[in-house]
Amino acid sequence: MIDFRLTEDHLAVEKMVREFAAREIAPRIKELDEKGETDPTILRKMGELGILGICIPEEYGGAGFDYIALGLACEELEYVDTAFRVPMSVHVGLNSLTLLTWGTEEQKQRYLVPQAKGEKLATYALTEPNAGSDVVGMQATAIRDGDHYILNGEKVWISLADIADHFLVFAWTDLEKKKVRDHSGISAFILERGMPGLTTGTIHGKLGIRAGNTGWISMQDVRVPKENLLGYEGEGFKIAMFALDQGRYTVAAGATGLIRACRDASVRYALERRTFGKLIGEHQLVKEMLAEMEADYQICRLLWLRAGWMKNMGLRNTRETSLAKWIATVASERAASNAVQIYGAYGYSNEYPVERFYRNCKGAVIYEGTREIHKLIQADYLLGFRTDKPLRCTLPPWEPKPERESVR
Ligand SMILES: Cc1cc2nc3c(=O)[nH]c(=O)nc-3n(C[C@H](O)[C@H](O)[C@H](O)COP(=O)(O)OP(=O)(O)OC[C@H]3O[C@@H](n4cnc5c(N)ncnc54)[C@H](O)[C@@H]3O)c2cc1C
Repeated sequence: MIDFRLTEDHLAVEKMVREFAAREIAPRIKELDEKGETDPTILRKMGELGILGICIPEEYGGAGFDYIALGLACEELEYVDTAFRVPMSVHVGLNSLTLLTWGTEEQKQRYLVPQAKGEKLATYALTEPNAGSDVVGMQATAIRDGDHYILNGEKVWISLADIADHFLVFAWTDLEKKKVRDHSGISAFILERGMPGLTTGTIHGKLGIRAGNTGWISMQDVRVPKENLLGYEGEGFKIAMFALDQGRYTVAAGATGLIRACRDASVRYALERRTFGKLIGEHQLVKEMLAEMEADYQICRLLWLRAGWMKNMGLRNTRETSLAKWIATVASERAASNAVQIYGAYGYSNEYPVERFYRNCKGAVIYEGTREIHKLIQADYLLGFRTDKPLRCTLPPWEPKPERESVR
């Protein structure tokens, strides 16, 4: 049986995040966007309210809600601005949910618990100057040296890079496999700010998401204890893809919130602005844009809700999550473009938020798998070039994990 109703918990989360975003983000966002600065106090407050650990089990410091609650929080945050949804994708989706599934108990206690409580901020560093969609083109290396790995390399376009405390980093541990581009030579590591040789910086001059930090990470002979290897050696690619299944879900839900924001702002303006003696909302071509926004919003919400339901059930959802992410991000681009159109010249100025929505929407069509990569994924499923194995559970009950120390 399909039940489209949200539970009391879901409605409470939605209301709490909606009110938080209206109270703490909306009044500040224009100024932060103009300055190109993020505000860590807003992130700290998100942590205090449990938003940064919303779907992490309580035993690991989280709020203990499910994936639907995570999606609702993303919709509500991006309804106001993309910059404060991004931490949900990176800190919660790409990093914390990945630690929850792949981390040892020791790693969870040390890294996941403070992340879920919002005391520490975490990010995910896969992309390099010459390797984005082509993950296996990465150059970063992690060479074993006794009880440590020595990491070298550069990561770019990393959300939260310059403000994060913890970094989930991917690097080659098998240099022979690197030569032949065999991704089973890549491993995942947890790095901490303050490790000698680890430096970060901020990228300036971005098109959008200006109230969020995006930056680079440089690793020069960073000595990382072997206990900070996530999963087994050689599992890095699998872990990176698992993380993207979580992050893409949050991007899909967030982009859906952006469509709703464009729709609501457009409806407001269509009921105010008059041309040719009528409200512009009375012109059929304006109605068409509004109707498309509504259709896009409803379709995208159903797509991310389906993916979230599958995640709650522990069902493999790579295909459904990819579809939700692709469709929602391109629809948000269309909605933002049409919102600017409806506002006419005023939409071209930062007097109204639609200008910011138009600049913000593009990033999500690029990160966590570009539009083109998601099209390829969908076609490959159709053609039978791609099939999935069952998913490791991410929320309780967990599968028993093999003892890891013995293989290190
Ligand atoms: C705001 C922002 C935040 C980001 N945050 C993070 C982060 O937190 N962590 C992280 O690791 N990365 C992050 N990224 C990086 C992002 O994931 C990459 O930009 C993305 O994977 C694309 O890689 P690329 O930019 O190198 O483009 P490329 O891979 O060089 O692609 C360039 C163009 O070619 C197309 N293309 C590439 N290969 C194919 C193909 N096989 N078939 C058809 N077309 C193809 C692409 O779709 C794209 O249009 C972020 C990026 C942005 C813009």
